[in-house]
Amino acid sequence: MEKLIITIAPTGNVPTKTMTPHVPVTPAEIARDLIACYEKGAAVAHIHARDDEGVPTCDSKYFAETLRLLDEAGCPIIKQISTGARGGKSGAARAEGLELNPLSGSLSTGSSNFPASINANDPQLVEYLAETMLKKNIKPEIEVFDVAMIHNAIRLQKEGLLKGPLLFNFVLGVKGSLPATPKNLFFLYESLPTDAVWSVSVIGPQHVNLSVMAMALGGHVRVGIEDNVYYSKGVLATNVALVERIVSIAKAMGREIAWPEDVERIWGIN
Ligand code: MG
Repeated sequence: MEKLIITIAPTGNVPTKTMTPHVPVTPAEIARDLIACYEKGAAVAHIHARDDEGVPTCDSKYFAETLRLLDEAGCPIIKQISTGARGGKSGAARAEGLELNPLSGSLSTGSSNFPASINANDPQLVEYLAETMLKKNIKPEIEVFDVAMIHNAIRLQKEGLLKGPLLFNFVLGVKGSLPATPKNLFFLYESLPTDAVWSVSVIGPQHVNLSVMAMALGGHVRVGIEDNVYYSKGVLATNVALVERIVSIAKAMGREIAWPEDVERIWGIN
């Protein structure tokens, strides 16, 4: 089986310092956590930005500072910039971080609900972001909140806006979207193109179980405070502890951990 890529999503748009003191929000805090997680075995960093008040933003200066700190520290973790719907409204605003030429960017290929807002990605916006990434040779990671998003991505590939093999991340357990169940995970898995590369990002108490299921199926795993403020019932998570747990499970399962140098090969880019 292929080596396991662990993606660390340390911040997201939702967790606040009130919810958990462990969430990194400034570029310095985010870079520090990413470096620590890289040292434990995370190969990819899924990066969000917050402004000086801790509010989600697409302003590229915050992304730029996080990336600069990683480079300054010589940390080779693969950079993936979020273009998520909670960071900004227009396509141009959401594409701002892509100007920094990360290796990867997130791309939602459809709309769904978040717990208290809409994950709004209309067809024109999806095409705009896909085309921007294509032109800049940025690998889109397709964020799948619903099976329709897989089929939309396949259509975009046929239209030449996405290059194969497609890279997917299944997001399960968001209130208002697909519940985190083995059946839903397997349904998404069975809906993939045969050459797809995929991971799961599970929100809520099923996150360990379904991560293990994905690992057994040959998928990859995303963890982090973006997805889970809690490590286990009543116990706040740290980003490092979440990575360490997946590393130890992978070892028990006999699955090698991928390092940043393995990622381009596994994602099928060069
Ligand atoms: Mg995100």
